[in-house]
Amino acid sequence: MRTFDKRFDQGHIDGAFVPVTGEELVDIVDPATEEVVGQARLANRDDARRAVEAAMRAQPAFGRTTVAERMAMLERLRASMLTHADEILEATITEYGGPVARAQWVANYASQCFGDAARVLSTYAFERPFGGSTVVMAPVGVSALFAPWNSTAGTMASKLASAIAAGCATVIKPSELSPWQAHVVARAIHEAGLPPGVVNIVTGRGLDVGAEIGTHPGVTKLSFTGSTPTGKLIARGAVDTMKRVSLALTGKSASLLLNDADLDAAIPLALGAAFMNSGQACVAGTRLLVPRARTAEVVERIRSAVAALRVGDPRDPATTIGPMVSRAQFERVQHFIRRGIDQGATLIVGGEGRPDGLDRGWFVRPTVFADVRNDMDIAREEIFGPVLSVLPVDSEDEAIAVANDSPYGLQAYVFSADAERARRVAAHLQAGTVLINRVAPDLLAPFGGVKQSGLGREFGVTGMEAFLEPKTISAA
Ligand code: NAD
Repeated sequence: MRTFDKRFDQGHIDGAFVPVTGEELVDIVDPATEEVVGQARLANRDDARRAVEAAMRAQPAFGRTTVAERMAMLERLRASMLTHADEILEATITEYGGPVARAQWVANYASQCFGDAARVLSTYAFERPFGGSTVVMAPVGVSALFAPWNSTAGTMASKLASAIAAGCATVIKPSELSPWQAHVVARAIHEAGLPPGVVNIVTGRGLDVGAEIGTHPGVTKLSFTGSTPTGKLIARGAVDTMKRVSLALTGKSASLLLNDADLDAAIPLALGAAFMNSGQACVAGTRLLVPRARTAEVVERIRSAVAALRVGDPRDPATTIGPMVSRAQFERVQHFIRRGIDQGATLIVGGEGRPDGLDRGWFVRPTVFADVRNDMDIAREEIFGPVLSVLPVDSEDEAIAVANDSPYGLQAYVFSADAERARRVAAHLQAGTVLINRVAPDLLAPFGGVKQSGLGREFGVTGMEAFLEPKTISAA
């Protein structure tokens, strides 16, 4: 038997770390080196059921906790997560390949979101008069939280913060690609000392562990972050027992560069939007809509800026783009680069294969295509890698129409020197969020998608309300 530094074979069930009983072992591969650095045993359906049953036992008492008690729990979670920030950082870099600046952001956010949730909770009115009745916002019940691999710690923590604030016991199912990150987060949660069963964590595959949790009659609410095809499966499975569903799904975000934009400011922001998290971001702004008259200038600036981006060792602070998470993701990006060339887009920088000097690791070349039409695959499908499409448009109206011509609508970006004009354009965009002259998210404002990018909202007050249900009490 091989020995590894990192070996994970436990779930967190009913307040304790217990061995999972699944048969499948998965290697943990450092995507920057392709070396196997650890191994994890995946949970199975039995483990999933035990986790749900523990949450069901915990729910009645947890649902009756006071605001002050839950604020104290959130504060303990915030502090514990902060204590583990360095381990979250290390796991995010080694298991996922997140560049250090990004991994540090995730590690900080995993703590910060509990503080944010406590603040939201402190001022929330759980009882309000409506008509002649009293409406009580009650916890929805046992909640399943599904996390993707591209922001494991952040997604686990952010969903959990809202669920705890609302008074919902949880079962968390991280991706099978992130057992190490999930384990570190589980340790931090464990050390916060919540009542047994309030947070249960089982890492396993979607099709068995995920499906078991997602269809279990004892689960009332599903909060899922992942791809649109999986989100559809989850929603279909939820309907039999009428589970409440929040879905944060695929994106294919447009960045609109208006003709008055200051390119010195806008181009770095647009590239930041396109290549954040090595391009493995649901909110990546991967369609850049540029006034035709300015396209040549924009393309030249992008060509030199992208050629100068550092791709490589995610531990190096100068690195902007780390490896793709896996060989499959590397191949997916290669496929779309070939598709862009085959369908007639103009390759202006990047292309197939690894960057020069990197002969191992799942590194891809940051790639930009010009002359892209919105019906090409690279403009329609989420690539989930550092591949940007530049689409020329002839007017502001056309930019809006092209931006909206997508099955998705998660986030859009508008770059303009005229704030009023940018807001007018934002009003016409079909997206859950529009960021104007910025790429940083507002973590207290509602976040989610329209169209096939999802259902419902996370973060802040709306994030907590996704775990609450209004109950009307009318007396004679
Ligand atoms: P995915 O859909 O393959 O998996 C997401 C999670 O769902 C994983 O934990 C997976 O194991 C689980 N799962 C799979 N099948 C399941 C089933 N039948 N029942 C229950 N759970 C199941 O997504 P991924 O490849 O892990 O992540 C990348 C995708 O996530 C991209 O499409 C990206 O846009 C999306 N994403 C969206 C947001 C957002 O906020 N909108 C954020 C991050 C990632």
